[in-house]
Amino acid sequence: MSKLHPVLTIVVPCFNEQEVLGETTRQLTETLQQLMTDHLISSKSSILLVDDGSKDQTWNMIVKATINHRSVAGLKLARNVGHQSALYAGLEKAKDRSDCVISIDADLQDDVSAIRTFVAKYLDGYDIVYGVRSDRQTDTAFKRTTAQAFYRSMQKIGINLVYNHADFRLMSKRALEELCKYKETNLFLRGIVPLLGFKSTEVAYTRKERHAGNTKYPLKRMLSFAFDGVTSFSIAPIRFISFLGMLLFMCGVVTGGYALMQKLTGNANAGWTSLMVSIWFIGGLQLIGIGIIGEYIGRVFLEVKGRPKYAVDIDLYTNNDLLEKHSSQRDFQPIKEQKRLQRE
Ligand code: UDP
Ligand code: MG
Repeated sequence: MSKLHPVLTIVVPCFNEQEVLGETTRQLTETLQQLMTDHLISSKSSILLVDDGSKDQTWNMIVKATINHRSVAGLKLARNVGHQSALYAGLEKAKDRSDCVISIDADLQDDVSAIRTFVAKYLDGYDIVYGVRSDRQTDTAFKRTTAQAFYRSMQKIGINLVYNHADFRLMSKRALEELCKYKETNLFLRGIVPLLGFKSTEVAYTRKERHAGNTKYPLKRMLSFAFDGVTSFSIAPIRFISFLGMLLFMCGVVTGGYALMQKLTGNANAGWTSLMVSIWFIGGLQLIGIGIIGEYIGRVFLEVKGRPKYAVDIDLYTNNDLLEKHSSQRDFQPIKEQKRLQRE
């Protein structure tokens, strides 16, 4: 392994991507082959397809791809753990056998041709290369505005994100080794990577529409992703509640003084309405405060358990022999067939 001809691994998380996976594998192997021919990367470079507990034909397609292409490997997680953890699983596996790793979504929204620029930047000495969308025209107006609002508010509360960067990036081996020291269960990779430091740069590309299949991030998942992003990186919401509490306390002192004066001057009357209003108001605020604190306690609860982020079912990356074992299953009939043909 050397800096000159680095071993590159392209990690692709796949969740129910049967419609698009064939085309993705074709484009990625082609790119990889071209880079090898141009002597930009080592011939040991590969593509690692991580199956995140798909329910469709994704895994079977991955197994077929590992047979058809020498440079394709597969990793099957035992169940669906979500985009971030699936990606992490791939990165953690890939880092030991690579000089640099590129992560890319399976749906071909990210520009495959930018991979070449990523590698060039790595060869220039950058440890992290962020793929940044130059425009969001292909996203729906709703996704565009919500995403923009998300980046802005994250910035406001002090979470340093690379603007318009998703998870299309290159990381060097040492950057990945540092990343793997972060032991948190609630993974928000695009928040952690800028925290690593190292020399980094950005490469702009045009984000395309999903090649085929549907988004795996419906609104509910997007919201929970944003919420995870905020609460696993910032205590700003807690601070805000404390600030609000202090403000209310001061208002209380002023109103208390006013009420006392009214009483002393004999002007006090039965203020049922104002009493009820303030009880509801303060009660509501207290509940919000407790709720937010509860959120953090919940997170502490999740983190202290230190649960593993994923479990590997089948690993066709580090251990190729497993292919043999699993080819005996009915699902993998094509492999058996293939092996038989190879023997004959
Ligand atoms: N993905 C995954 N596990 C999940 C959901 C998504 O591995 O539980 C993968 C998915 O296959 C794709 C990437 O994460 O490669 C991004 O998902 P998607 O394209 O659906 O998100 P969007 O681009 O719509 O935000
Ligand atoms: Mg997508």
